[in-house]
Amino acid sequence: MVDNLDLLIRDAQACQACALAASRTQVVVGEGCVPSDLMIIGEGPGAREDELGRPFVGRSGGLLDRLIAEELGRTREQIYIANVVKCRPPNNRDPRPEEMEACASLLDRQLKLVAPRVVLLLGRTAVGRVLGTKVPLGSLRGRLYDLGGVTVIPTYHPAFALRGGAARLTEMRVDFARVHLLLEEGRP
Ligand code: URA
Repeated sequence: MVDNLDLLIRDAQACQACALAASRTQVVVGEGCVPSDLMIIGEGPGAREDELGRPFVGRSGGLLDRLIAEELGRTREQIYIANVVKCRPPNNRDPRPEEMEACASLLDRQLKLVAPRVVLLLGRTAVGRVLGTKVPLGSLRGRLYDLGGVTVIPTYHPAFALRGGAARLTEMRVDFARVHLLLEEGRP
C-alpha cells in the first residue's frame, strides 16, 4: 500500500482500536508540514485538543508555540506535531500501554510520511514509548539518540515546565536550541 496523509487521517478518524474511542470528541491526528525536517511528539490530547481536534492548543501549546518561535525561529506550520495517542485519555490520565500500542501504527505511519531528520520528544510518556525505555527522563535528557537514522532529542513536557518554574524552562530552551543547531547543520 502506498500511504498518504489523507489515508492516515481517514484511518485515524475511523479508529476503534482501543477504549479511548468511546470517550473522545475528536481524533487529534496531528498537524503541520509533511514532509518536514522536524517532528515533535507529545503524549496525548487534553480537553482543549479533544474539543478542537488539534494538538497542543491549550496552555501547554502556548508554551510550545513560544519555544518554537523563540528557539527555532519557526511557526508550528513549518514543522509537524503529533502525539503518542490520538484520542484524549479521560481526566487527563496517562495513556495506558495498550492504548499506546493500539496507536503505534498510526505514529509509525506519521514518522514515515513526515520523514523528519530530527524528532523532539515531549515528556516521559513520549520518551518512554518512542525510545522504548523506562529510564527516568531526567537521566535521558541532554543526549542525542538514534532511531533508524533519525536523531531523537528528549525533553520535558511543556506542562511540566509550566509547573516546574524557571529552571525547567531553561533546560527546555537548551534542548530546543540544540534542535535548532541540528536543523541548521543539515541545511544545504
Ligand atoms: N499535551 C500533549 O501531550 N499533547 C497535546 O496535544 C496537548 C497537551
